[in-house]
Amino acid sequence: RAAFYSDNPVGGFPADPSALSTMSDPPPPWSDSKVQSEFRLDYQPIVSLVDGKISAFEALVRWLHPQRGMISPVEFIPLAEETGLITSLGWWILREACCQLRAWQESFPQAIPVTMVVNLSAIQLMQLRVKEQIQLILHETGVDSRYLKLEITESGLMENVDATIELLEQLKALGIQLSIDDFGTGYSSLGRLHYLPVDTLKIDQSFIRRTTFEEESWEIVQTIITLAHNLNMTVVAEGVETPEQLARLKYLGCDYGQGYLFAKPLSSANATTLLMTNPQW
Ligand code: C2E
Ligand code: CA
Ligand code: CA
Ligand code: CA
Repeated sequence: RAAFYSDNPVGGFPADPSALSTMSDPPPPWSDSKVQSEFRLDYQPIVSLVDGKISAFEALVRWLHPQRGMISPVEFIPLAEETGLITSLGWWILREACCQLRAWQESFPQAIPVTMVVNLSAIQLMQLRVKEQIQLILHETGVDSRYLKLEITESGLMENVDATIELLEQLKALGIQLSIDDFGTGYSSLGRLHYLPVDTLKIDQSFIRRTTFEEESWEIVQTIITLAHNLNMTVVAEGVETPEQLARLKYLGCDYGQGYLFAKPLSSANATTLLMTNPQW
């Protein structure tokens, strides 16, 4: 078992998948084959509110359990975090998303500026040699770091700010983009925000949802947009569902939108079709 993992900086899957077949032990419970058969990624477009074009896709993991059917990531990600299985699952997700991006770049030249956004769990960030593992995946999939954006929740970031800042700086130095997810829900110390080398704030969808029946919620949205711009960050509104929300977000100068108004998370095939049609909202 020790030899099996030795090539791999952070554990989980062997860097060389052929190592699986030469292994005499049974595969670990969260094995490569289990992940490949039961997990998949959907992709949801993130749209520029300036030109209405697809700017990025966010990879969102899905678990199709053989008995229980589709299980939401809201249920199984916290479980995977508690058990530590998030490490191997998380690296599979990053690799799969990078493979998808590379495939798009190869098939459609117009897709090249599209960024792939991948969620990283705070638990993953605390592993050893995170930077090396990310570098390895970029190298193996042939993805240029500037087209990868890693998204970390505000609460995850703030748990261990000082250690995290150093890691984020290393990732920035590689050319990777960084985004803070669920912004506004994690009680960050605002004073710390400008120390974080992040490119983007993502306004939590609860604020956007509330704007429909609570005019005052627009004040919060506007404040986050201003805050992001004052810190030289771009801002994404998540959970955009209505044309009214879109119009108001544009008026407030929000840079990007994501939500059912544009598209739900799509299978790889459907995301590919959408990308091919080069839509404009
Ligand atoms: P998140 O990162 O905040 O992702 C956005 C969630 O909002 C997704 O739910 C997406 O399907 C949903 N959503 C997008 N637009 C709309 C909209 O207009 N209306 C509504 N009502 N919902 C919208 P999903 O895919 O169920 O993921 C839930 C959460 O699970 C994610 O929240 C993220 O925290 C976690 N998650 C998903 N995939 C991954 C992953 O690959 N790695 C990690 N670490 N966490 C993941
Ligand atoms: Ca996210
Ligand atoms: Ca979010
Ligand atoms: Ca969320």
